[in-house]
Amino acid sequence: MKLPKNNKERLLIFALGGLGEIGKNMYVIQYADDIVVVDAGLKFPEEEMLGIDLVIPDVSYLVENKEKVRAIILTHGHEDHIGGLSYVLKEINVPVYGTKLTLGLVESKLKEANILSESKLILVNNESEIQLGALKVSFFKVNHSIPDAVGVVIDTPEGVVVHTGDFKFDLTPVNNQMADIHKMAEIGKKGVLALLSDSTNAEREGHTGSERSVGESISEVFRKAKQRIIVATFASNIHRIQQVVDASIAYDRKITIVGRSMVNVVNIGIELGYLHVPEGMIVDVDEINKLPADRVVILSTGSQGEPMSALTRMARSTHRKLDIMPGDTVIISATPIPGNEKYVARTVDQLFRIGANVIYGGSISGVHVSGHGSQEELKLMLNFMRPKFFIPIHGEYRMLRLHSDLAESIGIPRENIFLLDNGDTIEISNGKARYGSKIPVGNVLIDGLGVGDVGNIVLRDRKLLSQDGILVVVVTLSKQNATILSGPDIISRGFVYVRESEELLEEANRLVTVTLQKLMIENVNEWSSLKNSVRDVLGRFLYEQTRRRPMILPIIMEV
Ligand SMILES: [Zn+2]
Ligand SMILES: [Zn+2]
Repeated sequence: MKLPKNNKERLLIFALGGLGEIGKNMYVIQYADDIVVVDAGLKFPEEEMLGIDLVIPDVSYLVENKEKVRAIILTHGHEDHIGGLSYVLKEINVPVYGTKLTLGLVESKLKEANILSESKLILVNNESEIQLGALKVSFFKVNHSIPDAVGVVIDTPEGVVVHTGDFKFDLTPVNNQMADIHKMAEIGKKGVLALLSDSTNAEREGHTGSERSVGESISEVFRKAKQRIIVATFASNIHRIQQVVDASIAYDRKITIVGRSMVNVVNIGIELGYLHVPEGMIVDVDEINKLPADRVVILSTGSQGEPMSALTRMARSTHRKLDIMPGDTVIISATPIPGNEKYVARTVDQLFRIGANVIYGGSISGVHVSGHGSQEELKLMLNFMRPKFFIPIHGEYRMLRLHSDLAESIGIPRENIFLLDNGDTIEISNGKARYGSKIPVGNVLIDGLGVGDVGNIVLRDRKLLSQDGILVVVVTLSKQNATILSGPDIISRGFVYVRESEELLEEANRLVTVTLQKLMIENVNEWSSLKNSVRDVLGRFLYEQTRRRPMILPIIMEV
């Protein structure tokens, strides 16, 4: 994708991921030959992406413009912002800028991907200023459900672009990490050309609660609990983990941590000074089992009901070392990400069956608040920045839509609000914005070690296999004599219960034999037509008999 020479001097804004979806955030700001990328996230697969582990953005545009990409700037350490980084850096090894905790989390990822030593990680804070070609980047602190989250200010020759990152306004944050409210107002006062702002909670009225109120609710649960307490939350929610630690200190309980990601984040959090845990407070699982029930807290992953997580395994009594007992208190300190509701419900049911006291559902129980600002906070951000152009980001379409209504309600004219899809571009030059040409975007699917090798065709096959199973027909032919030497043998999986379908399969067998014989007599002997005929005849027959369409795989060998 080469830009035409004559109008290179203009600002280009677009997303490679994050619009019309929750996840795989990646935004691009380009002025002439300088590109700055904000975030490199991943998304968890949708239900129809069978067998896929992760989804990351297609970065072909960045690869084609490799020499122009000055940096990837990270807003915070959540997976939907940093999870794609190790894959992207393998394609374009550019400097990565982030705050201390963000880089701490990134480091452990890059180490796992074996690319830490060749990666260039550069530490920034809310006072840093970086000159990247024609672009000057600076930061402001925001409140979010992970410490060290920042918004990004990109000063361009056309004007200032502000990217909020994920944010809420929490006036009583845990660890006293105050947002840079004054700085936001100042940025707005100097003039903002374009604002890109988090739309996650654009559907929610009012204000999002303070993280500190969660601490009070958790403490109250601790006060009443007579036996063990199990707390499940997002591994990255260090504020929440700190509040569990504080309640454990207050009620003289020791903590054990289960779940690989939770152990990892707690270690990084303690090491970098974001999590304050007294010596001897965290003990290992074997030791916790020796303590009386009312001295125990188990901090666990699995707040989304993920089938393989520690909480789910404890609930099903398939955890190696820990069981949930009747009378235990389980706090699920999170709300389900859209799509995970039924997994969470299943886990909660299971826990109640065991006889545990389950506290879940943030808004009723007070044990969870969102990390994203609600409508009033979104309006506050819009009011601070007073941008000329507004682009809602980070959300599914309806959220982006509602966020643009909010922008209009505070006085931004509709024609200055851009509701974009991934790949839609906005070109700004001489203070005027218009839609530009589309950039190719897409999902890169990751399955095991394969990056992008599983595409639509493989997925279609997986879907077929998962619906009606597979039937393999093996036959050996002699072309010289036009006879069948052996077979056909029919092997099926996931189609019918073979022992009760002998007749059907025998008839199928006969049909294949007749078809092949007929074709050979007619002198049709190209491999592909033989295969296609078997597939057609068999497919039609099986559909008539069963109303199912298994995948049919003819294997024809010639002697
Ligand atoms: Zn986030
Ligand atoms: Zn996010």
